[in-house]
Amino acid sequence: MSRVFNFSAGPAMLPQSVIERARAEMLDWRGSGMSVMEMSHRGKEYMSIAAKAEADLRELLAIPSHYKVLFLQGGASSQFAMVPMNLLRGMGAADYINTGDWSIRAIHEAEKYCKVNVAATTKADNFTSVPSQAELKLSSDAAYVHYCPNETIRGVEFPYIPETHGIPLVADMSSTLLSRPLDVSKFGLIYAGAQKNIGPAGLCVVIVREDLIGKTIPGTPTMFDYKIHADNESMYNTPATYSWYLAGLVFEWLKELGGLSAMAAINQRKAEKLYAAIDSSGFYTNPVARECRSWMNVPFMLPREEFNEHFLKEAKEAGLTTLKGHRLLGGMRASIYNAMPEEGVDALIAFMADFARRYG
Ligand code: PMP
Repeated sequence: MSRVFNFSAGPAMLPQSVIERARAEMLDWRGSGMSVMEMSHRGKEYMSIAAKAEADLRELLAIPSHYKVLFLQGGASSQFAMVPMNLLRGMGAADYINTGDWSIRAIHEAEKYCKVNVAATTKADNFTSVPSQAELKLSSDAAYVHYCPNETIRGVEFPYIPETHGIPLVADMSSTLLSRPLDVSKFGLIYAGAQKNIGPAGLCVVIVREDLIGKTIPGTPTMFDYKIHADNESMYNTPATYSWYLAGLVFEWLKELGGLSAMAAINQRKAEKLYAAIDSSGFYTNPVARECRSWMNVPFMLPREEFNEHFLKEAKEAGLTTLKGHRLLGGMRASIYNAMPEEGVDALIAFMADFARRYG
């Protein structure tokens, strides 16, 4: 068996020990005589798996008790609609910070339900930075403020949490949740598609302050109502049982590693050494303002486009896969989420240096 270092932006690598454990438990989960995939979500075995996953996530992020944790489906993309449907609460407008492609998707969806005030945009610098707190034009009539702390495509990250003066802050943390400790109490709602740092695709985690839910706009589908999911412990309908179980194994892995501070130290080290290799190469470039460079998604360009194909082919031969940049940007992108081992980043850096020597 040979496993590659997979730099995919998502679905992304999972910790090997998690996959091994899932394999060991595949046919017979702890004497139940069945796979987790075959269990009733209402049976006591599965209920214990689900409850343990939630408890571990709460512990990892120190989620206060007045927040609900929901394990939903429909991806982060459904949240682009669910957020306005639930959080407008009779108000007609929301503030959105636009820092790139995923912010724009969220804005377009919200425009179907309310007036969107764009509180700031970094379009003028081609989304290579984030606005400062002073640049945010927050409005007084906003039901909430939405932003994307880590823009997965361009690798741009907020180095600070926006201050919204009591207006609920909503964050699309799809590509950054669990990469480091987080003060959940600063947010009204956090959502994240699972397929990067949490587990397999098919699951979306929502963390929401209890007092914000239960006032949906008229016509909201039952499945889009956070309160319904909260009241039913994310089992109003059949949840993504296996993805939820695997997410639980990832949470246990994080706890064994020492929690999110330990994870953050590793992530910071991985990102810093990769950016240092890019900046000192005289060959590769990354256009993002230094203080806004993502720990998770590292895009980089080669000096000539015709090198790209060679780079991808040779990298693959070296066991380094899925490095092709997003189709909007070209070039390369290395996503180095929690489960990417430091050796994977070291191997990529060594390969990049060798490639630059040969093609530079
Ligand atoms: N937001 C961000 C920041 C993302 O990176 C992604 C997926 N790459 C999405 C939203 C959409 O997620 P999903 O495919 O789960 O709907």
